[in-house]
Amino acid sequence: MVNNRWAVLDCGKYPSADNCKIKLSAPEDQVEKLIDLAAYHASKSHGHENSQELKNELRKLVEYEENPS
Ligand SMILES: [Zn+2]
Repeated sequence: MVNNRWAVLDCGKYPSADNCKIKLSAPEDQVEKLIDLAAYHASKSHGHENSQELKNELRKLVEYEENPS
């Protein structure tokens, strides 16, 4: 059975000054790309420092859902 879960980071779940509703997702086996993209978004849009620490925090926030078919 192929594992087709998706890793999801939903910015809308967290408070932000601009009420950001960006939702990022990637196949579970590409979660590192998702983390990189989320770190870029967090630094670009929310003024966070794009650091390893930020990526570690983002990694804790990733949720997994079944691939919507
Ligand atoms: Zn955002």
